[in-house]
Amino acid sequence: MHLTHQPRVALVTGAGRGIGKAIAERLAAHGHTVLCVSKSDTCVAVAQGILDKGQKAKAYQVDVADPVAVAKACEQIIAEYGAVEILVNNAGITRDKLVMAMSETEWNEVLSTNLSSAFYWVKGLVRPMTRKRWGRIISISSVTGVQGNAGQANYAAAKAGLHGLTMTLARELSGRAITANAVAPGFITTDMTAELSDEIKQKILSFIPLGRFGSVTDIAAMVDYLASEEGGYITGQVFSVDGGMAI
Ligand code: NAD
Repeated sequence: MHLTHQPRVALVTGAGRGIGKAIAERLAAHGHTVLCVSKSDTCVAVAQGILDKGQKAKAYQVDVADPVAVAKACEQIIAEYGAVEILVNNAGITRDKLVMAMSETEWNEVLSTNLSSAFYWVKGLVRPMTRKRWGRIISISSVTGVQGNAGQANYAAAKAGLHGLTMTLARELSGRAITANAVAPGFITTDMTAELSDEIKQKILSFIPLGRFGSVTDIAAMVDYLASEEGGYITGQVFSVDGGMAI
């Protein structure tokens, strides 16, 4: 299917590498102006790479777990662009431990970076989005948020929390033609997963019916569809893109 994209302003958190970078590049290739957010300055190189192709982007170095920093960035963005119409909450971290060994700090870090951050961005950007009467809020969850995973209580709770937020946003914002959906990747080859040992990777592979790890393109393609004009009748859903892991 050929997807239709009218040029919009899009913001992607965690756009400095991995899945977020692939999403940012894909949206930019469709003519959207992509605001690339990351905690470190990696978003600067990603935005520059997009600009070098003659496409539109700008980098914002923001810690998404910091509500004051996000609110400030949102004010700046609204002053400059009027509104963000496509918001992709992608930034995420892991601090894996069994519950028995998990510290409160590890719990809170993951909850604030992976879940509260989405609330901060929505809160900062939703008013002008409603005035546009067109919007897409897409949050990157995980197979762990769908079925849980030993050693990831904080991460599973945060990702499942995104599902609740997504369903609620879908209901609250439907009257303004704003959709809210989540994409739940399985095991995707990125820096986040590169740290795992070969032994663990082989074990994970045995749980993937399609018999391979996913690529960042597999996730960007789903986001692309949800962000397109054709994706406008889909809201409040969680889409697994996981090679069948959560069947
Ligand atoms: P990654 O670690 O390669 O990249 C994460 C990005 O988020 C980086 O650009 C980093 O700078 C940014 N980030 C982290 N903390 C931040 C903060 N406080 N403020 C701003 N930016 C911050 O991760 P990835 O593998 O590309 O994962 C992207 C998303 O997909 C995450 O939400 C992750 O939970 C989810 N996910 C990944 C996989 C996988 O297999 N890689 C599987 C399921 C879900």
